[in-house]
Amino acid sequence: MSNSRRPARGNKYRAGYLRSRVWFARRARWFAEETATGNDLRCAACSRTAKVRELELHHIDYSGVTETPTGWKVDEKHSDLVSLHPAHHELLHRLLERDQVLRAMRSRRVASAFALRVLRRKLTTPITEQP
Ligand SMILES: [Zn+2]
Ligand SMILES: [Zn+2]
Repeated sequence: MSNSRRPARGNKYRAGYLRSRVWFARRARWFAEETATGNDLRCAACSRTAKVRELELHHIDYSGVTETPTGWKVDEKHSDLVSLHPAHHELLHRLLERDQVLRAMRSRRVASAFALRVLRRKLTTPITEQP
């Protein structure tokens, strides 16, 4: 599933899903699962701990989400989603949209992982440690 190969239709599809009740339920379950691991909730970009209400979830992969005549079939794996501060989620999407290399990358998973690495480096490297 490519970012560039599914333009307007893909966006509508995602926008519809992200307003659905099933998504809100899936989102709540993701945070419950994450908390159950015993780890603190964190932003995947800046690595700072955060509360559920301070975080949004980014889809690394939408392949678990399918629209059916009776509604959304929701089967995202836990690893298909990552938690981010809203501002850092926004930065991630800007990187994904703007960067030609990321846009050309085959899967959203690969592009997201790459963009997250770029963001992490930007947000977590102390100025004193920069060469
Ligand atoms: Zn953050
Ligand atoms: Zn996102």
